[in-house]
Amino acid sequence: MKILVVDDETDMKDLYLQRFRKEIRTGQVNLFFTLSGQEALDLMKSFEPMDVVLVLSDINMPGMTGFDLLKVSKEKYPWLKIFMISAYGDESNILYAQKLGADDFVTKPVNFEVLKQKIFNIPT
Ligand SMILES: [Mg+2]
Repeated sequence: MKILVVDDETDMKDLYLQRFRKEIRTGQVNLFFTLSGQEALDLMKSFEPMDVVLVLSDINMPGMTGFDLLKVSKEKYPWLKIFMISAYGDESNILYAQKLGADDFVTKPVNFEVLKQKIFNIPT
């Protein structure tokens, strides 16, 4: 399962690689990382076929926000699942994410057990 993590915090990559170590080793997940929404769109465009299943996107990022990325990605790839990952899990953010078609919302600091449950129970 190809998963793309989009976050402007560079530390997130190491954290995800560590917390998904087992799933990466067994080939259950294949993680990709970008530091911005634009880079994420460019990377997805470069995949032939575009077989990313899930995007985990931060909301507050310089340039394109996670909401912008959500909007554009859902238009381009309607099947793509997108979870918003943000420290700002207030109701207005969650409602706006839902309105734009986000498939889930996870607050930071990420509880990886909960995140994995959500990931491995995505309805197809
Ligand atoms: Mg951020």
